[in-house]
Amino acid sequence: DRFITDRLRAIDASGIRRVFDLAAQLEDPINLSIGQPDFDVPEPIKKAAADAIDQGFNRYTQTQGIADLRAKLTADLSAEFPETLGQALTSGDASLLITSGVSGGLMLAMMTCVGPGDEVLIPDPYFVMYKHLVTLAGATPVFVDTYPDFQVTPERLAEKVTERTKLVLFNTPSNPTGVMATAEICEAVTQFCAERELLLLSDEIYDVFQYTSDATMPSPVRSSADALLMRGFSKTYGMTGWRLGYVAGPTPIVEQMTKLQQYSFVCAPSMTQLAGTLALDVDMSEHVAAYARKRDRVVEVLSPHFELAVPGGAFYAFPKVPEHLGLTGTQFVEAAVARNLLIIPGNVFSQHDTHFRLSYACDDATLERGLEILVELAKT
Ligand code: PLP
Repeated sequence: DRFITDRLRAIDASGIRRVFDLAAQLEDPINLSIGQPDFDVPEPIKKAAADAIDQGFNRYTQTQGIADLRAKLTADLSAEFPETLGQALTSGDASLLITSGVSGGLMLAMMTCVGPGDEVLIPDPYFVMYKHLVTLAGATPVFVDTYPDFQVTPERLAEKVTERTKLVLFNTPSNPTGVMATAEICEAVTQFCAERELLLLSDEIYDVFQYTSDATMPSPVRSSADALLMRGFSKTYGMTGWRLGYVAGPTPIVEQMTKLQQYSFVCAPSMTQLAGTLALDVDMSEHVAAYARKRDRVVEVLSPHFELAVPGGAFYAFPKVPEHLGLTGTQFVEAAVARNLLIIPGNVFSQHDTHFRLSYACDDATLERGLEILVELAKT
C-alpha cells in the first residue's frame, strides 16, 4: 500500500467498475454498451500491417511518427482546414505528433499543459478518461453542465471559468451523447478561449461518424489554428487495439508533448503506423451509412418515449429516463439488466444520474431487441 502514490489514490474507478459488475451478471446480454465499432478492420489495412511485420518493419520509429504517415496527414488536414491548421503546418507554427491512440495524446497533453493549481473545464457529460487524466496531472477538473441539449456554449463555460482555468476539453461528436457541436458554437467557443487565453483541446475521434448533410464537420480548427486537435484510427477503422492517433496544434506545445513521448511511449506501434498510412485512403462510407441508418432508427423508436437530444454523430445516444418512472439512471439500467439488456448509467459519464448511454454499434437484430425492451421499460 505504501507504494501507491496519492496521485493514483485520487483516481476513483468506481464508475467503470459498476459497469463491469453489471456486465458480469449477464451471460449473453443484448449488449448496447460497446464503445467501439462492430465492424472488423478492412482487409487491405490488415494486410498492410501483416506485410509490415513480415518485411521487418518492427523497430522503433521516430518519436514524432513515420514520415509517410505524417506527410499524408499533413496533406489531408491542409485540405480540410486550408486557412487555419493547413497554413500553420506549412509555416511551422503548428506541428503534428503521431500518438498511441487519442488516449496517448490526451495523457501527453495533460502532463504537458496542466498541473497543480490549474483548472480544466470539462463539459458534462464527458468521456470518463478526461477527469482521471486531469486529476493524474495534478490539476482540478471543473464540470460544465450542458444538460439538456448537450451543447457547450460560451455562456455555460463562462459560468465556470476562473483565473485558474487553463484548458477547455471539447469533444464533438460526443461520447456519450452523440451530439455534434454546431459551426456557430465551434466558432464561439474558439473565440471565448482566445479572449481568455485558454487552450482548447478538440477531441474529434468520431469525426468520420457524422450524419448531417453538411460535407464539412463543424470543428474549432475551422476558425483557428490555436486549438490542439486530436483524432484517431480506433473508431474510424475499427482499430481500437492497434493504438494509433495523432495530435496537431501549436508547435511549442506539440514539441513538449513529443519530448514527453520520447521518454514514455517512445513511439506509436510501427506496423500500425505503416498500415495507418494506407488506411487513410480506405473508404469507410458504407459503415458510416450503416450507422446513420441505425441512428435514424434509434431516434425514431425512442423519441416518442424518451427525452432525447438528437445525436448527429458517433454511435451513441443519451436518452433521459422518463420522469414518471421515478428512477435514477442507475435504477433504470438495473431494470434493463434484469431484462438482459446491457446499457450504461449516465452517472458513469456525468455528475447527474438521470440518463443512460446506449451504443448502436451492433447488428440490427440486437439493436431492435434492445430498443423494444427500452420502450417497454418506458411504458411500465
Ligand atoms: N476520446 C473519446 C471521446 C473516446 O470515446 C475514446 C474511446 O472511447 C478515446 C478518446 C480514446 O480513443 P483511442 O482508442 O484512440 O485511445
